[in-house]
Amino acid sequence: MVDEQQVAQTAVVEEVTIFDRIVKKEIPATIIYEDDKCLAFRDIAPVAKVHFLVIPKDRDGLTGLSKAEDRHADLLGHLMVVAAKVANQEGLGTNGYRIVINEGKEGCQSVYHLHIHVIGGQQLSWPPGV
Ligand code: AMP
Repeated sequence: MVDEQQVAQTAVVEEVTIFDRIVKKEIPATIIYEDDKCLAFRDIAPVAKVHFLVIPKDRDGLTGLSKAEDRHADLLGHLMVVAAKVANQEGLGTNGYRIVINEGKEGCQSVYHLHIHVIGGQQLSWPPGV
């Protein structure tokens, strides 16, 4: 299994990310929701029974959450609403789930295209890896 913590140490901001390529359908992904602003697809290395990502189609400077500016408020709000809608669609609405945004090296971010992890389908533990 790829060590996400290790990958995060060397991950860099790229002009075109793997997620841009998924948006353009240049590489395959299991897409479970799509609209004009965002895409949700299953994580290739799920950490729980249900694990999907919600990403903006246009990163618009949001390599990570730390780059958020006032102008991103509508987009960020939309991503959260879509995360909740798709979680319901996936049957997670009743028992709950977790939303995660990894930020930077110490947050174990490996892809510099803002994304929300939605994780659930089973009992989760707390605290999450510290
Ligand atoms: P993060 O570590 O927060 O940057 O999360 C990046 C996530 O993207 C990881 O959970 C990876 O498993 C996932 N990932 C990387 N490449 C792909 C891909 N081609 N399709 C789906 N998920 C991917």
